[in-house]
Amino acid sequence: MTSKRYIHAFEEGDGKNKMLLGGKGANLCEMTQIGLNVPPGFVITTEACLDYLEKDRLPDGLMQGVLAAMKEVEKKSGKLFGDAKNPLLVSVRSGSAMSMPGMMDTILNLGLNNSTIKGLIAQTGNERFAHDALRRFIQLFGKIALGIADEHFDAAMTAMKRQVGAAQDVDLSAENLADLANQFAAIVQKHTGKPFPEDPYEQLEIAIAAVFRSWNGKRAIDYRKQFRITPAMANGTAVNIVTMVFGNMGDDSGTGVGFTRNPGTGENIIYGEYLVNAQGEDVVAGIRTPKPVAEMEQEMPEIYRQLIELRNRLESHYQEVQDFEFTIERGRLYCLQTRNGKMNARALVRTSVEMVKEELIDKKRALLRVDPVMLEQLLVPQLAPDFYGKPLATGLPASPGAASGRIVFDADTAEARGKAGEKIILVREETKPEDIHGFFQAQGILTSRGGKTSHAAVVARGMGKPCVSGCEAIVINDQARSAVIGETTLHEGDVITIDGSTGRVYAGEVPTVEATFSAEMETLLKWADEVARLKVMANADTPDDAARARAFGAMGIGLCRTERMFNSTDRLPIVQEMILAETTEERQAALDRLLTIQRADFKGIFKAMKGLPVTVRLLDPPMHEFLPTAAQLELEIAHLHHMRDSIKALEELPETLKLLNPRLYQQYADGLNKLSMGMKEFKDNHLEEDVIHKKEKILKKVRALSEVNPMLGHRGVRLGITYPEIYSMQIQAILEAAALCAREGLVVYPEIMVPQVATVEELKRIHGYVQRLHKVVELTHGINVGVKFGSMLEVVRACLRSGRMAEDAEFFSFGTNDLTQATFSFSREDAENKFLPSYIETGILQDNPFEVLDLKGVGELMKLAVTEGRKTRPDLKVGICGEHGGHPASIHFCHEIGLTYVSCSGPRVPIARLAAAQAQLRK
Ligand code: PEP
Ligand code: MG
Repeated sequence: MTSKRYIHAFEEGDGKNKMLLGGKGANLCEMTQIGLNVPPGFVITTEACLDYLEKDRLPDGLMQGVLAAMKEVEKKSGKLFGDAKNPLLVSVRSGSAMSMPGMMDTILNLGLNNSTIKGLIAQTGNERFAHDALRRFIQLFGKIALGIADEHFDAAMTAMKRQVGAAQDVDLSAENLADLANQFAAIVQKHTGKPFPEDPYEQLEIAIAAVFRSWNGKRAIDYRKQFRITPAMANGTAVNIVTMVFGNMGDDSGTGVGFTRNPGTGENIIYGEYLVNAQGEDVVAGIRTPKPVAEMEQEMPEIYRQLIELRNRLESHYQEVQDFEFTIERGRLYCLQTRNGKMNARALVRTSVEMVKEELIDKKRALLRVDPVMLEQLLVPQLAPDFYGKPLATGLPASPGAASGRIVFDADTAEARGKAGEKIILVREETKPEDIHGFFQAQGILTSRGGKTSHAAVVARGMGKPCVSGCEAIVINDQARSAVIGETTLHEGDVITIDGSTGRVYAGEVPTVEATFSAEMETLLKWADEVARLKVMANADTPDDAARARAFGAMGIGLCRTERMFNSTDRLPIVQEMILAETTEERQAALDRLLTIQRADFKGIFKAMKGLPVTVRLLDPPMHEFLPTAAQLELEIAHLHHMRDSIKALEELPETLKLLNPRLYQQYADGLNKLSMGMKEFKDNHLEEDVIHKKEKILKKVRALSEVNPMLGHRGVRLGITYPEIYSMQIQAILEAAALCAREGLVVYPEIMVPQVATVEELKRIHGYVQRLHKVVELTHGINVGVKFGSMLEVVRACLRSGRMAEDAEFFSFGTNDLTQATFSFSREDAENKFLPSYIETGILQDNPFEVLDLKGVGELMKLAVTEGRKTRPDLKVGICGEHGGHPASIHFCHEIGLTYVSCSGPRVPIARLAAAQAQLRK
């Protein structure tokens, strides 16, 4: 025997050592040691499994140890292994450190043979059951331990039923089953060349090896791959040898499963089912319908008392809701297994708060036991939990929540039909800033292109609307107003349902359940805020978004993207005027109108967030995003030219036609009349010049603004430098809005943030604008306005120069969407549905870096920027406003590197609040 200790009796195994004993084994030890009634048994360690797998034989001395342990079990159970009168039967159960339900093997009723069956009949008084147990045991053992396919046994079973005219297994008599057991043993003999092992110790040895082998079975390997279970999380399976107890020994016996609290609602009441005079298989086979445990109080009051005692002791020991299995053998309750109960989000939140109030756990434990991501279930509408329909297609889960509506293919129709009260889903290849008015009216957005940080995804998240992006299976034909998904063609007006939490798209309307922000959730998040060091801000662009984010507990706005305000239908023409202006005066006139509008926007947001900071980002996207595309303009211009040319041709129709074919001439003349009436209006109103000319002018501008790589082109601060009047207008609007609020007695904290900064000089220039305008506004409004000035860090160079940047910047905000794109040189629009999935599948990358912050690359840049920035300005406020700001693991990292705040979309604020508290608690 080696120095390793392979065998641990339930009385002595370390209940905390799940790596060694497996989850089930550790819990059986722990339950035994706290005095719960567990059938006697022992655990063979995962180390023994690994040694077995390495050498392909059981470790030396293992079976001697098993023999000694079995002697102890015999003593404790008062039964004897292999005895014909009072036989001890055992189960041989797998169990690794991570729960892998049903993925490895387990053998029941081991120890049965032609002699011990007599004892089982005597013990249970149930001949039929004993023969059934033996034939099941031979089949299970034959399959798992000896590798004989089920079909051989099934064929014998079918033949037997046919022979005796039995419709189901339950119709077979004890005699039939005894006969079958003999036939099964003969099948074993035929396939292995050896008789079925009658010796219980031989059975045990073969079964232990078989359970060890099941660790490397296909099912188990696939499961570990799927759920990313690494050897560090679970390595090998333990084997639990447990005395069999029987729930079918009469009306004082039974079996059941329970939860210490209701896993659906969290209500503090035992929840579960049981069957009198039955074995676990009966529950599984569905032969009899189990009863709710509440009925046990009447039916078996003494057992019910034991059950409630078990429930209370399980909860007070584990300080967690337990999911347990029990068997009652002749009036005695045994606990066969326990594990932490899996609950939905509602139940998790409710039990967390109630268990603190009951003083069962403290607030720290309450906060740590809820997975922040699960809160999403409570914050957005979900598909009805009992819906299992087949999706038409699956894209990226870009913004959570479910929504149904009629398909529309453009933002204008979305706006019109939405305003008319219809529920609609905006379906586009990809969305552009000018589609924003369609978003406002849509229930949800579906795109066939773009990733999770695409325009559609980011805007939808900000608005808290469901979005499925990059659903490449959908081929959209805008002209035909239809979309094709495989065999299905969808037309404008057809109803679909999208689930932005899973990326699935369904035909028709699927029922949904509404979000519920319960009082318990409020309480839990209040506790979270008391603990967390990181502040949680929201990304919000309108007063409505801001108010909603505040209701979710946002402690300010970390990112207000001002371009969103430029895109509504009433403003876009003014923005276009500004872009198309040929003189400074023209541009200024447009800017003046925008100033009034923006000032009102900012005032609305400041009011919604009174008392809290609001970080406004100056204009970021390239100018051409506010103009139609060249292709669209070319099409429209060609159409107008065609119209004009047709009229001209008709006007010049030779008079000779009148002579040759008066009827045909008349038809032409009528057509001409109609057209010229249209044309007259066209001409009278100078539409010809106005429309065609204007479109041609825009086209010229679009061509001039066209860039090969617009995301790396003339945008962000570069625009602010080349068109100082645009940034100046925005800065003035922000400061004046703050001054107006201050005069109304509102406390506001405006912050101005510059996007895409790469050099210190860029930041200094814009800082200069702010300082100048700050003075002007304070003077003209006669009131002090506090304002902070800061920079986005979303360009690699800016991170490297952060020490100098901090001379001007009072705060930094990491734009990790762009910073990730820049660090990897992956396009954030294309990577996610092109090569990233295969990168993740083949292990080149562990995660999608646009979702989970890339700590080794982007994270290192962030660390450096924080350290260098704070060397210059120790009180530098640093946050994150990329999409990672709402991702729990990324929030942990932000906490670790000392950020001041995270900023995320409104509905993710509660998730981030909890994650921020957990980051502090786990420190
Ligand atoms: C970012 O790049 O992370 C960011 C917040 O800016 P945007 O997504 O608007 O480019
Ligand atoms: Mg950015």
